[in-house]
Amino acid sequence: MVHPTESEPDDDAGDDDSDASTDAETTPDATDPAHEIPALLRENLYVVVEELVDHDGLLVALDFDGTLAAIEHRPEEAAIPDRTREAVAALADHPNVEVAVVSGRELADVRERVGLPDISYAGNHGLEIHAGEYEVHPTARDAEEDIASLCELLTDELAEIDGVIVENKGVTATVHHRLVDDEEVPVVENAVESLVATRDDVRLTTGKDVLELRPAVEWDKGEAVRELYDQLVPDDEEWLPVYVGDDTTDEAAFSLLGDRGLGVKVGDDPGTEAPYRVADPDAVRAILAWLSDYGVEFLGTDHHGVPVGTA
Ligand SMILES: [Mg+2]
Repeated sequence: MVHPTESEPDDDAGDDDSDASTDAETTPDATDPAHEIPALLRENLYVVVEELVDHDGLLVALDFDGTLAAIEHRPEEAAIPDRTREAVAALADHPNVEVAVVSGRELADVRERVGLPDISYAGNHGLEIHAGEYEVHPTARDAEEDIASLCELLTDELAEIDGVIVENKGVTATVHHRLVDDEEVPVVENAVESLVATRDDVRLTTGKDVLELRPAVEWDKGEAVRELYDQLVPDDEEWLPVYVGDDTTDEAAFSLLGDRGLGVKVGDDPGTEAPYRVADPDAVRAILAWLSDYGVEFLGTDHHGVPVGTA
């Protein structure tokens, strides 16, 4: 598998030598019980197992692009590898485990790409949530017309710039400039910033080669995780929330978890609030497989010294 990441994680941030550097033909099946424990878990096994022991269940919230799927030049090319889909499905299949994908993509888009109808989803950074039933933030719904008209304005204004993609995602919009020449990126940024500056009902956030227009409501991936927890976890139980993501918008979820859950940053971008890191989506899959094969056995066991299946 090819990972066209801009910043090769080559330091000790990930160090998952057994998982990231080989291709699909030679990598051992991550769900194989003989598979080695991923580096992140090897180094923090005691803490992770203690957390699992102390909780009744597990809520695993996962970003999509750069976390489950490798970043691609065009957003429509991003795809989840079959083995990752299988790892997510196997984990979600355990009792007292819920898995949710939390993406900046439109909910219907990310749900189709993941291809698992029975897990939960938060789209548009949580402005749309599917966890049993579908919900849209009410203020966000009102913003759809405004977002559509802003997309039209931007499409016209940026028509001369090669490679720019203005994507209307319903309650939000994304301007992609990964394919734009470096010297023209500021032109794109200025156009979007000037337009948003004229509106008090829309706010601007930035990510990897993207500018995102969102309704000016207080809502982010952290709020999405809080909402998912409220909806999915029984009131009288304490579940361990885990969040895995690679981008700046994921920081809201890492801050929400703080030390009440496990935040895992994908890649080596500096300045994250997540206490743990993995190198790339292959390492994410290995973690999910470990949780499914071994980790869930510890949930709520409240005792120590159980073998963990290391080689
Ligand atoms: Mg991402």
